[in-house]
Amino acid sequence: MNICFWCKRPKDDKEGEPEYFDYEYCSECQKEVDKGIVIVQTTETSNGNLPIKTDLYPTGKWVVVTVDELKKVLKDWVGLPDALKNRHMFMNEQTWKTFKLPN
Ligand SMILES: [Zn+2]
Repeated sequence: MNICFWCKRPKDDKEGEPEYFDYEYCSECQKEVDKGIVIVQTTETSNGNLPIKTDLYPTGKWVVVTVDELKKVLKDWVGLPDALKNRHMFMNEQTWKTFKLPN
């Protein structure tokens, strides 16, 4: 069975072990993602997940924040323009904790 990595919902009704093959959002997740900027918690240590980018592995935690929230919290951050342009950003666990994002 093909599942959505982000919410674990099935994407088809095939028999077998739930597996994900890519980081495409399902339609439910896409609705959430469209509300703002996605922050994906990642680690540089291989954790069994497929790399989402070279040497970056999602931990499974992610959150969507509004553009206004992101601008407020990260206003001095050099990566902000890219995050706003790409509509997503990657964040390591340490920074995640610093910003008190949900666990
Ligand atoms: Zn999903």
